[in-house]
Amino acid sequence: MIDAHVHADTRPYEDFEKMAVAGVEKAVSCAHDPLRMSTSDVVLDHINRILKNDTKRAAENGLKLYAAVGIHPRSISKDWETVLNELPYFLEKENVVAVGEIGLETTSNIEKEVFKKQLQLADNMNMKVVVHTPRQNKYEVARVTSSILEEMINPSLVQLDHVDNSIVDMAVEHDWNLGLTVQPLKVTPDEAVSMLKEYGVDRFVLDSDMSSSPSDPLSVPKTVHKMKLAGFEDSEIKKVSHSNAAEFYGI
Ligand SMILES: [Zn+2]
Repeated sequence: MIDAHVHADTRPYEDFEKMAVAGVEKAVSCAHDPLRMSTSDVVLDHINRILKNDTKRAAENGLKLYAAVGIHPRSISKDWETVLNELPYFLEKENVVAVGEIGLETTSNIEKEVFKKQLQLADNMNMKVVVHTPRQNKYEVARVTSSILEEMINPSLVQLDHVDNSIVDMAVEHDWNLGLTVQPLKVTPDEAVSMLKEYGVDRFVLDSDMSSSPSDPLSVPKTVHKMKLAGFEDSEIKKVSHSNAAEFYGI
């Protein structure tokens, strides 16, 4: 199994063993806002930590960790252009598979500017992007996010993440990969199963988004278990829990 979106830097060492024991072989750790991102140094230290310490902590437990790097909408420091200028260097590193997570939290002008600059960079470098959608005003913010994506980037490069019932109808109209975040307060394993029944398995990847918010490192295996109980074919289960993410990220 692949967990397509995690925040390994916020999790204890033991979570990686739990995931590996439950059959999660790979995960993608995305840049986010674990600290007050007051300067570019903090953001860059955060990115370095994912690439070095967390990759090592996961590997010691048998979990292969990949990374998505970028400026999260809640991580925009005053000197964010310094981070932007450093991103191409990180994007060429071996375990880095995408720009992310990037996107909008409130749709402020600065968020839009930082988001667009990173989409431009990803489109130029032909890199995949992991796009955040927020908890608050989700539908309204996702609409603005969607129109920027349409204008700025090849849809085959995009994974729109944290898709739930409130935005799924809008999301499936586009040719993006869709991240189904199974997390307490977001989507339960049973709700994920209902969505997969309704919309099919071809475009979805499963992720836990495990972070310092309420999270379950076993979200993906638990959803796979519920899919088995609900009578999905093995090939359908493999698509959402492994192959779609493997293909999208090239891992
Ligand atoms: Zn996240």
